[in-house]
Amino acid sequence: MQSVLDIKNLTVRFATADGEVAAVSDVSLSVGKGECLGIVGESGSGKSQTFMAAMGLLARNGRATGEVMFGYMNLLTAKEQTLNTVRGNKLAMIFQDPMTSLTPHMKVGRQLTEVLVRHCGLNAAAARTAAIEMLGRVRIPEAARRFDMYPHELSGGLRQRVMIAMALLCGPELIIADEPTTALDVTVQAQILALIRSTREEFNTSIILITHDLGVVAGLADRVAVMYAGRIVEIGDVDQIFNAPRHPYTKGLLACTPRLDDPATATLATIPGQPPNLQHLPRGCAYHPRCPYVMDRCRVESPKLLPTGAGQNACFLDDLDVRAAS
Ligand code: SF4
Repeated sequence: MQSVLDIKNLTVRFATADGEVAAVSDVSLSVGKGECLGIVGESGSGKSQTFMAAMGLLARNGRATGEVMFGYMNLLTAKEQTLNTVRGNKLAMIFQDPMTSLTPHMKVGRQLTEVLVRHCGLNAAAARTAAIEMLGRVRIPEAARRFDMYPHELSGGLRQRVMIAMALLCGPELIIADEPTTALDVTVQAQILALIRSTREEFNTSIILITHDLGVVAGLADRVAVMYAGRIVEIGDVDQIFNAPRHPYTKGLLACTPRLDDPATATLATIPGQPPNLQHLPRGCAYHPRCPYVMDRCRVESPKLLPTGAGQNACFLDDLDVRAAS
């Protein structure tokens, strides 16, 4: 499959009063044309910072090294003006809270038409027509009336649809959706996920779906990367991750995810302990203080992400499996 985004050895460090902290360490992944890649992990696992770095949106004290290829362009070394153009046209981002991305004192319609005029070269009349049409395509009822409303006059679900409409305006090749449904109730969440699914089918857009909730990527993602303490610990096809997870952390996340087809999961487990403080990562495998399978080796050595059949996994248990099989 042709790649749209190729990340190689991405490391993101932040300068803090207590020294440098690595929020993302040596992450490599790619996203294919029309593919949906889910990125899951608890908060602080580095999933958002990986893509904020890729988009050139790190906080001022952040520094990224490695390579983020979008087509022939390395986004980490691109000039700010080039990045602005790419972010408006080919790469779009949808955030958890649309109010952080929509301008509160500007009508929805104007915010949409400005994108079309500035990034897609449309005149005002054509931009108005295209914006209302896009609001209709993301199933906003009475699109022409909503066009003249301010963001605060819309419900949370409608605001998120406006954000998706804005992301789609210039026909992006890749949409990065960061916790796009976290702030919404369950019914609206299902509607927005269905909209993202149909968007991908209709426009053949590649999607990176970042979430703390494995349930959100079920039925939507083709592949899933699981992050812990700034690293990818497992990556694989969605079926493998859900039905035959290898990494103990992936298994722990799944145990915390209710399954609609299994009422027994109504009482959910939680992963014992807390995600590590990135400033004081434990020696060895970062997951070892919480891992039910911890071995002596895990306390001193850090497992590498290695191929395992269809996917990749970073756990010493794989060595035992190989030995048992040989
Ligand atoms: Fe658990 Fe060890 Fe595997 Fe880390 S390497 S996940 S501590 S078994």
